[in-house]
Amino acid sequence: MERVLLIRYGEISLKGRNRRQFEDTLRENIVNALSTVVDDAGRRVSKSHGRFYVTGLGSEESEKQCIQVLSKVPGIVAISPGFATDSDMEAVKKAAIFAVEQAKAQMTPPVTFKVDTRRADKGFPLTSPEVNQALGAAVLKNVPGLGVDVHNPSIHLIVEIRPGRTYICGGQTEGPGGLPVGTSGKGILLLSGGIDSPVAGYLAVKRGVAVDALHFWSYPITGVRARDKVVEICKVLRKFNPDLRLLIAPFTAIQTQTMDKCPEKYRVIIMRRMMMRVASLICRDMGGLAIFTGENLGQVASQTLESLRVIESTSDYPVLRPLICFDKVETVRLAQQIGTYDISILPYEDCCSVFVPKHPVTKPRPDVAEQAERLLDVEALAKECAANTEVFDLG
Ligand code: ATP
Ligand code: MG
Repeated sequence: MERVLLIRYGEISLKGRNRRQFEDTLRENIVNALSTVVDDAGRRVSKSHGRFYVTGLGSEESEKQCIQVLSKVPGIVAISPGFATDSDMEAVKKAAIFAVEQAKAQMTPPVTFKVDTRRADKGFPLTSPEVNQALGAAVLKNVPGLGVDVHNPSIHLIVEIRPGRTYICGGQTEGPGGLPVGTSGKGILLLSGGIDSPVAGYLAVKRGVAVDALHFWSYPITGVRARDKVVEICKVLRKFNPDLRLLIAPFTAIQTQTMDKCPEKYRVIIMRRMMMRVASLICRDMGGLAIFTGENLGQVASQTLESLRVIESTSDYPVLRPLICFDKVETVRLAQQIGTYDISILPYEDCCSVFVPKHPVTKPRPDVAEQAERLLDVEALAKECAANTEVFDLG
C-alpha cells in the first residue's frame, strides 16, 4: 500500500475547448508547488478522469507537507489523501478501511460516508456498483460509529480502478478553488502595506491572474520598515502565486511635488492619479491587462464613486477592485485566512497616510483635478518613476 493524494478541481472542467490549456497550466502549477517539498515532483503527478493523482509520497510527514502547499494552489478545490494498492479486492478493502479511519480521525461526529467507484479497468471482475457495495459493507463492519449518506457524506471515498493499480482516497483539505494562475493573463497589483490590497491581490490570483505587485515607496518620507512590510506580504502572496514579483517605484519626487504645488484638498486624489499613470506604463511593458487595487467603496474620501472615477481616468487599463463591495470584517477575515493580516497591522506609515489633508475632497471634479495638475509635469514625472522602478529580490 502506497500513499497517494487525489486532487479535485472544479470550475475548469466547465471550460469546453480551453479545458486542455487550463489542465496543463494547473498541472504545471501543481508540480511547481510540490517541487518545493519533494524531489522529482513531475514524475509523481498523473491525471485521470478530470482528477490529478500524486504518488510516491513516502512518509506521512511528506504527505502533510504536500497537502499544505497544494492547499494554496488556485484551481484546486480539494485534496484527499489515500492509498494505492494492487487491483485485488482484498487489498482494496483494506485500503478503504484505512482511508476512512484516517479521514474519520480528523472529523467530529456524526461522520457519514459514501463510496464512489470508477472502473477504468474494464477487466476488473466486479462492476462499479458491486465494488461500492462490497467496500461500503467492509467499511461499516470494520470502522465503528459511521453512517452512510449518499447525498451529503462527510467522507467521500473515491475509488479508481486502473489496470494493475487501484486508488482509494477519502477525507479532504480544501484548496482555494478559482482558476489556475496564468490562465487569466497578467496584471499589476497596487500594493500598499495596508490590510486591503494584499487581499485584493489574493483574489486576483485566485481568479487565475498572474500578478506582479507594485509598491510606491517615498523614501525617506516612509522608511525601510514600510518597504519591508510589503516584502513580507509578497512572501505570503507568493505561496499562491510563486512567480509574483515585487516592483518598487520611487515615489518621493511625485509625492513632494504634489505636496508643494497642488491644493491640499486634492493631494491624495492627485497622488492616486499619478500612481495610475505609472502603473499603466509598467503594465504596458510587462504585457499586463489590468490594474488591481484594494479600494473599497466609501471607506475613505478617496474611495467615493466620484473619487474612484477621477482616479481611474488616468489609467490606460481597466482598474479592477475586487474588494469594492466588501465590508471591512469580510476583508479582515480573508486577510487572516491567507496570512497577511498580522503583517498588515504592523504600524509603519504608507506614503498616502503621511500628510493626509484634514479636509480631503470627497466629491472631486475631473476638471479641478486636471487644473490642479497643471503645475506638475505629470507625463515626465510618471515616465521617470516608471523608468526607475526596480524589481526587488524576494529571495
Ligand atoms: P490598503 O489597506 O490596501 O492600504 P486602504 O483602504 O487603506 O487600502 P488607501 O490607503 O486609500 O486605501 O489606498 C487605496 C489603494 O491604493 C490601496 O488598496 C492600494 O491598492 C493603492 N495604494 C495605496 N498606497 C499605495 C502604495 N504606497 N503603493 C502602491 N499602491 C498603493
Ligand atoms: Mg492604505
